[in-house]
Amino acid sequence: MEFDVEKYREDYPILSRTVAGRPLIYLDNAASTQTPRQVVNAITDMYENHKANVHRGVHTLSQEATAMMEETRRATARFIGASSTEEIIFTRGTTEAINLVASSYGQLLSEGDEIILSVMEHHANIVPWQLLRDRRGIVIRVVPMLADGSLDMDAYRSLLNEKTKVVAITHVSNVLGTVNPVAEIIRLAHEAGAVALIDGAQAIAHCRVDISALNADFYVFSSHKMYGPTGIGVLYGRRSLLEKMPPYQGGGEMISHVTFEHTTYADLPFKFEAGTPDYVGIAAFHTAISYMEEIGVERIAAHEEDLLNYTQQQMLTIPGMRIFGTAPGKSAIISFLIGNAHHYDTGLLLDKLGIAVRTGHHCAQPLMHALGIEGTVRCAMALYNTRQECDRFVESLRRVAAMLQ
Ligand code: PLP
Repeated sequence: MEFDVEKYREDYPILSRTVAGRPLIYLDNAASTQTPRQVVNAITDMYENHKANVHRGVHTLSQEATAMMEETRRATARFIGASSTEEIIFTRGTTEAINLVASSYGQLLSEGDEIILSVMEHHANIVPWQLLRDRRGIVIRVVPMLADGSLDMDAYRSLLNEKTKVVAITHVSNVLGTVNPVAEIIRLAHEAGAVALIDGAQAIAHCRVDISALNADFYVFSSHKMYGPTGIGVLYGRRSLLEKMPPYQGGGEMISHVTFEHTTYADLPFKFEAGTPDYVGIAAFHTAISYMEEIGVERIAAHEEDLLNYTQQQMLTIPGMRIFGTAPGKSAIISFLIGNAHHYDTGLLLDKLGIAVRTGHHCAQPLMHALGIEGTVRCAMALYNTRQECDRFVESLRRVAAMLQ
């Protein structure tokens, strides 16, 4: 079946607007994807027809809202191939999910225990572990990368040892687009007796994720990068680990019984969901998952791969073009610099031509340091981008390159 991108584009009113007098070309999808009308309608429907606080009400609205939230939990579990809804915890995003694991699982670690990260991690998968290091005296080890931006798996193997307790590595680099061999990373972590957390923020909307096949212990991602509402994230956690872990935050919803002397906690997943969740967003997140399923994650991936190859080939004909991250099978993210032009200037000029890209260190300063640069310009594709947009992007880049060099 043909990938009818023009039909899908109609789902996104924002794609018809202009910026700087030109039709918008949105290529900042690794930061946030746009939201289809179906998801916006689901938010409106929840506010207009079902809004009431979840989990504690006997009245009809509360029961409807609760059912919608729990239906999303079931859809999320199915979407990632998790075996139980008890293993799906709603958070505010990837960042909160990693903080939850570092803070809670971290309490099971001891001084001298080691955690392995990679040089291409987002700050969200670095700083929570540093906070833990400062509290508990654990040691952080870092896997370097090879020249093409792929992970140095030999170095990874040599870092694993009996002190390794956690391996926390990104599935897809938000700067380089590198798709890491996470199944192998997890297998090796398990062999060493460690648990593996995979940061799926950049993978979840761009390839099929099957938790059971990966055998991940923790897998985290954000709704706003997968056509869903902002403010929602998911922590998948292996039940046997979640059961052992102490609560992350205390409050309503996460308790079984409270006295001033002693509190017992709710069962999974509620033990980790203190306070009123964003139940409106969670209900609408279900629509985002169904939307992706209806189009087909594999078909989206194939479309993006076509755009990636098409665009990259043309970009390389621009004098001075430097692309960072050329690992085989990379995701549709292109980080680049034009000669010595500052990434900020390139981004600003592209904006004047109606093109939205991201510039800067992309919350990956250690990676920038390893590359010996301060930042890049990043373009990242999504299901609604077209070859015509890529043509206009490359044409605009050519103009910008001529102006800046
Ligand atoms: N990890 C990666 C690889 C990311 O790209 C991002 C966001 O850009 C995050 C984590 C943080 O996600 P959020 O800001 O939704 O918590």
